[in-house]
Amino acid sequence: MLCELSEGSFVQTWFRLSCLETLFLFITSAPVFYYYYARSNVTYEKWIYKSNPKFPSPQKVRDEIVQMIKGMLCATVCPALSLTLAQYGVGNAFCGWGDRPVSYHIGVMLFSWILSDFFEFFYHRLGHVDLKFWTHHKHHHVFHNPSPFSVIADEPIDQFFRSSPLLVLPLLIPINMDLLFLQFGLFFYTYGVYLHSGYEHSFISPHNKIINTSFQHYAHHARSSMNTPYHCGFFLKIWDQLFSSCYPEDKECFCAECGRGRGERTIDEFNKIDVPDYSVLLRPSYWMTWKTFKIEARD
Ligand SMILES: [Zn+2]
Ligand SMILES: [Zn+2]
Ligand SMILES: [Zn+2]
Repeated sequence: MLCELSEGSFVQTWFRLSCLETLFLFITSAPVFYYYYARSNVTYEKWIYKSNPKFPSPQKVRDEIVQMIKGMLCATVCPALSLTLAQYGVGNAFCGWGDRPVSYHIGVMLFSWILSDFFEFFYHRLGHVDLKFWTHHKHHHVFHNPSPFSVIADEPIDQFFRSSPLLVLPLLIPINMDLLFLQFGLFFYTYGVYLHSGYEHSFISPHNKIINTSFQHYAHHARSSMNTPYHCGFFLKIWDQLFSSCYPEDKECFCAECGRGRGERTIDEFNKIDVPDYSVLLRPSYWMTWKTFKIEARD
């Protein structure tokens, strides 16, 4: 399916992918945002699972969306390059199932998923331990209290590197392009929407030992900075456990689950919370201002 998109020049492929990706970003992030953040949908029953009891301002969400579009335009460069190279027969990318058994595709997906999860962790951690990388990555940390629109709200250079497995993997191993793109769309973007949703879930505790939950990523946004790389992992917790970059256990945990345990999530506390009117984001006039392009910097 995606191979058909690569007909024509690299720029044409990049443009088509960017249009598709924009559509994909909004149809995955916007419904989750509407469900959890629209005033009419915010309830006490949902709020007791919100990691940060407060809600971000509409200006912050507008900044996330602008940064997301900037990031997206660069996130599609590697995939477009990959599809263009495949068109010229460079590398090992192929379209369709080919003559390989289903077990091959499953094995390759598993391998590329674990390898990419480690790569995303390692590159992310670099953004917190090396000043050159932090200069770019700090723009993702402007969003202390993230919403589902901040998954790829990064500087372009960061998005270029984060999407580089889509270029490198097909050069190294024979791989079905549709499956690879599907994997990144589902495991990395859609899971990223959950990680940035700001809400925890009853079916998975933030204190489980295996999988990063939305709380770990919220903690990352809220507490990580240069030289404090807490929870840089994406899906598996093992990478942060191996590199000793989990939030210190001797500090009081600030997840919603522990907050509920301490009796902090009462209906009285909920009634004190101000839920902004995000419907301003639907007004064109809210976007047609210079402030739209001035995203608050972070030192
Ligand atoms: Zn970070
Ligand atoms: Zn993030
Ligand atoms: Zn906790």
